[in-house]
Amino acid sequence: MSDRLRPQLYGIFGHPVGHSLSPVMHNAAFRHLEIEACYVPFDVADIEAAVQAVRTLDIRGVSITVPHKISIMPYLDQIDDAAAKIGAVNTVVNRDGVLTGTNTDGIGAVRALSEKGPIQGKRVAVVGAGGAARAIGFGVQSAGGKVVVFNRTVDRGRKLAEDLGCEFVPLSDIMQADTEIVVNATTVGMHPNSEKSPLPFEFLKPGMIVMDAVYSPLKTRLLEDAEARGCTQINGLNMLIYQGAAQFELWTGKKAPADLMLKAAEERRKPGR
Ligand code: NAP
Repeated sequence: MSDRLRPQLYGIFGHPVGHSLSPVMHNAAFRHLEIEACYVPFDVADIEAAVQAVRTLDIRGVSITVPHKISIMPYLDQIDDAAAKIGAVNTVVNRDGVLTGTNTDGIGAVRALSEKGPIQGKRVAVVGAGGAARAIGFGVQSAGGKVVVFNRTVDRGRKLAEDLGCEFVPLSDIMQADTEIVVNATTVGMHPNSEKSPLPFEFLKPGMIVMDAVYSPLKTRLLEDAEARGCTQINGLNMLIYQGAAQFELWTGKKAPADLMLKAAEERRKPGR
C-alpha cells in the first residue's frame, strides 16, 4: 500500500485502558476532519517494548495514561519543558522518528477554566499534589493565575509549592483560604467513593468557580455541593477533552473539533452503552 493510502496510526498506552474515552473522541475528530487515521487502545505492561513498537510501526502519536506517565520518560528521545516541569508525560509526538514527550493536562485544565472567565491575576486553590495537581499548577501559573497548593500530606504539598514557587497550606486549614477558583486534583470523590468531597461544604462560596478533575462520576459530590452553594461548576470531562484536543493539535497541526469530541465522549458515557 502506498504511504498516501496507508491510514496513520495513533493510540493510548495504559493499564487498564478498556474504560478510556480517548479512542472515541480522537476517532470522532479524525472522521470529522476526514483524516485517514485510526486511534487504538493498547493495554501495555512493558512500556519499553511499547515505545519500541511506536518506532517500528511508525505510530504517529500516543496518549500515555496510568501507570506509564513517569516510567516512559527514559525511553523517549526528548522531553519538552512542560513535561519536564510536571515530571510526567501524557503525550508522545513522533516526528520523523524522533519521539518527544510532552504533557497537555495543564493546557486542558486552563482551557476548561478559561471558558468560565479569565485566570490572569485570580487566586486559584489547587487541591492535591499528585500528577494532576502538578500539571494543573504549572498550567494555571503559566496562564497568570496565583496558585496556592492545598494537600493532605504536608511534605508532598510543600514540594509542589516549592517547585511552583507558591504558597502551601495543609488541606486541614483550607477554611482559612480566600480563593476565587478552586480545582480538585485529588482522587477524593472518584467512583466507587463517590459520596465523598475533598472540601467542606462551607468553604464553597457563591460566585466561586469550582472545577473537579475527577470525571467518574461526572457530577461529583463536590460539584453537587458547588451547585447548592451557587458556584460555577466545571466537570472533569471538560479538562479531559481539552487535554485531548491539545494532543490532537500537536499530532495533526489542525484545530481540534473540541465540541464534537465532547459530544462523542458524552454519548459513550450514556448508561447502557
Ligand atoms: P495521584 O498522583 O495519585 O495523587 C492523588 C492526590 O489525591 C494526592 O494529592 C493525595 O494526597 C490526594 N488524596 C488521595 N486520597 C485523599 C484523601 N482521602 N484526602 C485528601 N487527599 C487525598 O493522582 P493523580 O494522577 O494526580 O489524579 C488525581 C485525580 O485527577 C484522579 O481522579 C484522576 O482521574 C484525575 N485526572 C483527571 C484528568 C482529566 O483530564 N480530567 C487528568 C489527570 C488526572 P496525599 O499526597 O496526601 O496522598
